[in-house]
Amino acid sequence: MIKVLAALFIAAGGILYSVRAAAGGNRETAPAASEAVNGELPPESFAPELIPGAGAPGFRETRALAEAYPGRIAERSFRDGDWALRIDDSWYFWANGRMMPEAERSRWKEFTGLRFYNYPRGLPPVPQLDEQTKARLRDRLAADRENPPARNEAFLSHLLEAPTREAAESQLVRVTLMGFPVRLHKLAAEKLELVDRDLKILVQTDGEVRRFLEGISHLGGFYWRPIAGTASRSYHGYGLALDFMAKDWGGKPYYWRNIMTRDKNWFELPYEKRWMAPLALIEVFEKHSFIWGGKWLYFDTVHFEYRPELFLLNPRA
Ligand SMILES: [Zn+2]
Repeated sequence: MIKVLAALFIAAGGILYSVRAAAGGNRETAPAASEAVNGELPPESFAPELIPGAGAPGFRETRALAEAYPGRIAERSFRDGDWALRIDDSWYFWANGRMMPEAERSRWKEFTGLRFYNYPRGLPPVPQLDEQTKARLRDRLAADRENPPARNEAFLSHLLEAPTREAAESQLVRVTLMGFPVRLHKLAAEKLELVDRDLKILVQTDGEVRRFLEGISHLGGFYWRPIAGTASRSYHGYGLALDFMAKDWGGKPYYWRNIMTRDKNWFELPYEKRWMAPLALIEVFEKHSFIWGGKWLYFDTVHFEYRPELFLLNPRA
């Protein structure tokens, strides 16, 4: 019997889902949720077993972050039993995904982690959740309402030189994407210019992408605000995210919170009933390390986010 197991990354703020098929009743072959981040380790050198900490949690994720931000992360090392990254003179510890400042390592349980996940290529199937998983999802949403999750912002703030609103604004660069102005963090803006270059070529032959862009009224980039329903700063508050705003949504939701009160099974809403972006356009963004929020369980189909570390974690096959 083949049974579908849903391995869910459930947390507020737009998290990806992965639904995997596994042989029913055979626990040996059932994938664990943690496999997504702690799967088989690609070799770092000819003898990875000789690297201290190679099997420890955070090995791959800290390596991806160090590769993604070479101008900011000066050093990566296995220290005091955990992987750590150095920015200027400060060390940040993996701390079960929380990336905690050295002096606050022991407080990691008070925070939610940075999100690392297997970002799929192409359009993943819309999830069909079993009753048990739906119940877990509802419980989690209720718990989050009571006690909104909060990320420890120290690492991202230091990485992006954006501890305050003023500092975050000082990192912004104004760029245009297909004629639409938007302000992004300088590191993301640089990549958006490459997206713009590729889209200008794509629209010459792709009518669907051309019509999509004709239906856009403006772009949203930097907003100083938390993720709705959480106490974590949105990636928009770092200037790493942008939203396509449509002239007319055609009555379709683009954000899970648009319909969650109307449709209790909002996560099963078929793609054709959601406001969508063309796959060819999404792929151009992905080529330059922006993920699309339309692939999250907590879907946000207007949202693109600069996450180079996720592409380094999941290299194109
Ligand atoms: Zn957004």
